[in-house]
Amino acid sequence: MSTKRLLGVYAHPDDEGGVTGAILHYNTLGVESGLVCATRGEVGEISDPTLATPENLGQVREGEMRAAAEVLGVKHLWFLGFRDSGMAGTPENNDPRAFAQASAADAVGKLVAIIRQFRPQVLVTFDETGGYGHPDHLAIYRHTTSAFYAAADAVQYPEHGPAHMVSKLYYSGFLRSFLRQMGEWMQADGYSGPFSKLDPNKLGLPDELVSVRLNVEPWLETKNRSWSMHRTQINPENPMAKLPPDIRRKWRAYEYFQLAATRVGPDVEGENDLFARVQ
Ligand SMILES: [Zn+2]
Repeated sequence: MSTKRLLGVYAHPDDEGGVTGAILHYNTLGVESGLVCATRGEVGEISDPTLATPENLGQVREGEMRAAAEVLGVKHLWFLGFRDSGMAGTPENNDPRAFAQASAADAVGKLVAIIRQFRPQVLVTFDETGGYGHPDHLAIYRHTTSAFYAAADAVQYPEHGPAHMVSKLYYSGFLRSFLRQMGEWMQADGYSGPFSKLDPNKLGLPDELVSVRLNVEPWLETKNRSWSMHRTQINPENPMAKLPPDIRRKWRAYEYFQLAATRVGPDVEGENDLFARVQ
């Protein structure tokens, strides 16, 4: 049985895209991976109305998430059961079931229970910008960071089992220089979609904070196949789908990680390994 475990913690089905290459890469090294999804993506846009209705979207997306996990060889998948909060400024933000409204005690407690059960050495979640500021992405970043500390503290949530010290917490995200490049392309192309107003200087991981840049090109086909399971989310108008092929390849072929907290020392130049120094 594998002793190394990686846990990716995200807000919606398809958010896991920033870590799927890492999951596939570490699969080949015998690492067991798990994924947590805080919501079922209940209020997102439906790319094709024949696939789902607003009423059953959560159920359909749960099925898509399960299919994506299967492609990745991920056998451990948890849904926290909160409701998708919708994009910032929409009425769904205020739904009492919305993840963005969840109390820290509730959300962190659920994550602590999973961490103590699965006992990962490496935890990965969104960076503090949440990729592009979605309220649920910001919430999962906040609660996962808290859970990294709380899971290791026996005094907190004793009902969820013995304390577990995760070795490293990483934030995965877009590389800021890449977002800048994408912004320049959008401007040159006259693109004006929902993402075109984002300021690339405030989003993504600043290049100098990234300590692991994984080349996932060898697993690109499987990574893409896993992504294609999220059928209700594949929107041809998405700026990512319209990227010129060379930028798109560069975007998909690498995954970027910032070491946010560690109990095994800092990442050293040249290591380029989420599990470096993990026993
Ligand atoms: Zn999301």
